[in-house]
Order: sequence, then C-alpha cells, then structure tokens
Amino acid sequence: MRDEIVTQTISEPLSGGSPGATVTLRPLRCGEILAPPGFLRLDDGVAGKARAVGLGIGERQKVWIPLPTFLVEHPTAGHVLIDTGPPASAAHDIKAAFGRLGAAIYTLRMKPEDAVATQLRAHGVDPRSIKTVVLTHLHLDHAGSISEFPHARFITTTREWASAHGPRGFQRGYIKRQFDHAFDYKLINYDAPEINSFASFGRAFDLFGDGSITLVSTPGHSAGHQSVVLRMGGREALLCGDAAYLKQTISDGRRPLILHDEHNFKRSLREIRGYMQITPSALVVPGHDPEAWSRLDAFYD
Ligand SMILES: [Zn+2]
Repeated sequence: MRDEIVTQTISEPLSGGSPGATVTLRPLRCGEILAPPGFLRLDDGVAGKARAVGLGIGERQKVWIPLPTFLVEHPTAGHVLIDTGPPASAAHDIKAAFGRLGAAIYTLRMKPEDAVATQLRAHGVDPRSIKTVVLTHLHLDHAGSISEFPHARFITTTREWASAHGPRGFQRGYIKRQFDHAFDYKLINYDAPEINSFASFGRAFDLFGDGSITLVSTPGHSAGHQSVVLRMGGREALLCGDAAYLKQTISDGRRPLILHDEHNFKRSLREIRGYMQITPSALVVPGHDPEAWSRLDAFYD
C-alpha cells in the first residue's frame, strides 16, 4: 500500500489490452436509496425544489432507486469494476457511512451482503485482485467503497477530481474521506489535444487501447462525469452512470435535483441519444432507474 495519494494525468491507454477483445458484464445492485420523485425529475420553481428534497411528500410517494456497480471482465486485462457503491458500513450504520447530515437526508435499504466487496466474493472474485476501478464520478453512492480496493488504480477525470476537492463538497454530493486514501488515481484530461471522439461522443478515452472499454466524457450531472461503453460479444453496452438517472431522462431531458451544469448535462444527453441512434442494438443502462434495473439480466457476454 502507498503512503500518499498519487495522481497521474494519463493520455495513453493502460497496458493489458488485446486486439478484438470483448468483455462480459455483471450488474451489481449495492442497495437502494429512497428518493422523492422530484429528486429524479425536478419540477419548476421553488415548490419543485421543496418537493425534490421531500417537503410535502409522503413516504408512499417516494421511490426506491438502485445503487449500481458493474463488474466487467476483460480477457487479458482482468476484472474492471465500474463504480464502488455505498460503503459496507451503510448497511448497519448510515450515520457512520454518510455522516449525521447524510443520515438525516438519506433513507437506505442495504443488507450486509449488498456491499460490493461481499458481492464480488460471492461471485468468486477476490476484491484485492481488482486492478482497475473506473469511477463515473465521485458522488457518495459511487465512491463509497473505494477503501475496499487498496491495490487498484482508480480511473477518474481531472475535472471530477478538482471538483470533488472543491468547497462545499457535501452539498454537491461528495464525502472527501471516501476518496481521501493513499491510493493510485489516474486522471483523464478530456480537454487534452490527444483525446479522440467515439460514435456520437465528442471526447472519449480507449481504456486499454483495444476498443473493448471506451470511457466517454458526459459532464453536467457532476463537473467531470464520464460514462462507459463496453464491447461485448454480440452487442455494445452503454453504462450512462448519472448522466441519465432514468430512461425517461434520456428521452425528455428533464433535469434531476443534483446538477452541476445544465448546459453540459443537456449536451451529454444529446450525445447519448446520438449514440442510441447510431447503435440501436446497444444495451443502455441509466444510473438509477428502478424499472430499467429490474429488466437487466444477471450477466451479459
Ligand atoms: Zn451522482
């Protein structure tokens, strides 16, 4: 293990790729959070904002939304985890996991066996063997279990890293101690001249240089959000992350409560819609959609 946080801006793909490689995908649900409908789809005005934080909303009107991570297996680069879910401690002590304020805001439904490390072990994968973790962004329900993977390199973006370390982090969805570990962070600078495009996405990074896992810049929900395109055996998958909470977000563009930049959010949704037109066979997985999640298979190859 390291003594200090190491950050390195990368412009070259990681080693380990192989020509024509395809990956497998295993979606993992690491618990659920109870949210007012307006948290997912914000209504106009002050009243809309109030409803989005739960004011005047009965418990029965709220919806349980999944907290996803994804286990990807690459034939030569090994296992890649996409996001880490909430911390394992959240299953029994939400105050310890998200702080007093977090415990007051969020209602979580999570069993100990929902924690990402426990699920990986149940699928025969030792968490310590995970060498690569891609973070769509660093919000508390995505970065919560970073500490479980001390031997991994974490792939995030220069903009996300800077934003997550900026002022008023908690109000913007970040808990610094979740990622304040002496680990290896590799930052993609999507503004660098060597960054390429992919399909409809203006800025993309080929993770292993073999086209199997393509990270695409989809900012807006957070400052440096990225989504993930996988090349599987028969089709592609687009893991939107929180660029789109719901399938409906993609089609109608309605913003959620938490949003860093509305212009970028809308542009990222346009790029996602463009990708779906170019790639109609793709499996498109929105970030927190209970309906879409219930229709996912356990495993894709
Ligand atoms: Zn988020």
